[in-house]
Amino acid sequence: MKINISNPALTHQCRIGCGVCCVTPSISSYIPGMPDGKPANTRCINLSEENLCLIFDHPQRPSVCWNFTFDLLICGNDKEEAIKIMQSLE
Ligand code: SF4
Ligand code: SF4
Repeated sequence: MKINISNPALTHQCRIGCGVCCVTPSISSYIPGMPDGKPANTRCINLSEENLCLIFDHPQRPSVCWNFTFDLLICGNDKEEAIKIMQSLE
């Protein structure tokens, strides 16, 4: 998949309200409210309607979430691209 990295604004910033990384990938570890983790393509219970993490600063937020930061190769240029990339990685 071709990824456009010509726009610097798109190269290293999380798109607020995107939320794809909290829906598309499976998470196998404990999540508050989802003790067995979550399957792929399932909204995390801690994701608000505005697609923001409700427990962002909570110590029980999974380490996989703490460790994941915006990466153009994963997040793509828009939400649809992020979904395709993350689905292909599942
Ligand atoms: S998929 Fe990427 S751009 Fe979207 S919320 Fe997660 S880190 Fe941010
Ligand atoms: S705990 Fe927060 S950051 Fe982790 S998947 Fe759920 S909503 Fe996203």
